[in-house]
Amino acid sequence: MRIQTAAVQTLRHQEHGAVVPPVHLASTFELDPSSEDGAYAYQRGGNPTRAQLETLLAALDGAAHGFAFASGMAATAAALSTLAVGDEIILPASVYGGTYRFVDQVLPGRGVTGRFVDDLGELTEADFTPTTRAVFVETPANPTLRITDLRRLITLAHRHDALVIVDNTFMTSLLQRPLELGADVVVQSATKFLAGHSDLLAGAITTDDDRLAEAFALAQKAQGGVLSPGDSFRLIQGIKTMPLRLERQQDNALAIAEHLRGHDDIARVWFPGSHSEDEARIHASQATGTGAVLSFELAPGRDRVAFLHALRYPGFAVSLGGVETLICRPATMTHEAMTPEARERAGISDQLLRFAVGIEDVRDLIEDLDQALAASR
Ligand SMILES: *Cc1c(COP(=O)(O)O)cnc(C)c1O
Repeated sequence: MRIQTAAVQTLRHQEHGAVVPPVHLASTFELDPSSEDGAYAYQRGGNPTRAQLETLLAALDGAAHGFAFASGMAATAAALSTLAVGDEIILPASVYGGTYRFVDQVLPGRGVTGRFVDDLGELTEADFTPTTRAVFVETPANPTLRITDLRRLITLAHRHDALVIVDNTFMTSLLQRPLELGADVVVQSATKFLAGHSDLLAGAITTDDDRLAEAFALAQKAQGGVLSPGDSFRLIQGIKTMPLRLERQQDNALAIAEHLRGHDDIARVWFPGSHSEDEARIHASQATGTGAVLSFELAPGRDRVAFLHALRYPGFAVSLGGVETLICRPATMTHEAMTPEARERAGISDQLLRFAVGIEDVRDLIEDLDQALAASR
């Protein structure tokens, strides 16, 4: 089954001929008095609606196991819950701000060390120590849209018995399937493209590894950061149109990147593969599209605040993946937790703007950008 069909058909056959799943709100479930057993016992440990969503999440990634959490960060925290005292995890310095905060402020208290590196693409054998338990990667990176070679990283990490955890939020299962390349765990903020309407916070984990799956089920039960039945249902409904939306968003993003490249009012435009032919080749070998996020800088002398005020359609807000276009300034909004030096090394200047493209008619978005750029002169 191809992914748009899987998104719609995986959960289509329901009791009574219903074409959408029911929402089971029960917090507790009756057990058989003699065996004291049942398919479900208590909502946190598992419930039929979340279980349906988890089946769908696994189907999208072609994975053996899927898990739904109350947010992308709850999913990331669960993915990192397998790390123990003395372990080290390697991450890119430009990693999502919430992940940076968790590794920087929470993991040290558990005796786990986060080692932040500028470029995962430059990792070598020498970077791995006997305590290196995992590597965490986002490709494309945010907001630089730099590419990491997943196959190379996975081979290297596995040679040292380190897990590879991929945050696939920017690509989704539609455009990139890291488990098929050998990654151990995929986490996603389902808040973004999967839900797609800027009205729901959710997170997802998929894996093929039975032992890790047990650890993630334990994280749900023991830490409790699970998605509610109502939100599980809303996410199921969102996922059905995700491939459609993302294809439109991606077409829009490509047209906008093309329009901005070479524009007199724009200094640079970044999207997956734009940094070098090498990165373009690697991205094309591990993903089937460039997604719907791009970054750009206004040309010197242009007034950023005037530009942002003049924009009619894009909201000045963090987040991405919703139907409406958003723009933000990473240095002060999404990546303010990074040190200024780390930001500079990652190429995240104070002028860089991240553009998360929606499903509007791209002609309106381009006309709007043009008039706002004129206002910035
Ligand atoms: C938003 C985001 C997260 C965190 O997800 P929440 O749903 O906001 O908790 C993690 N990783 C990436 C890449 C994100 O964009």
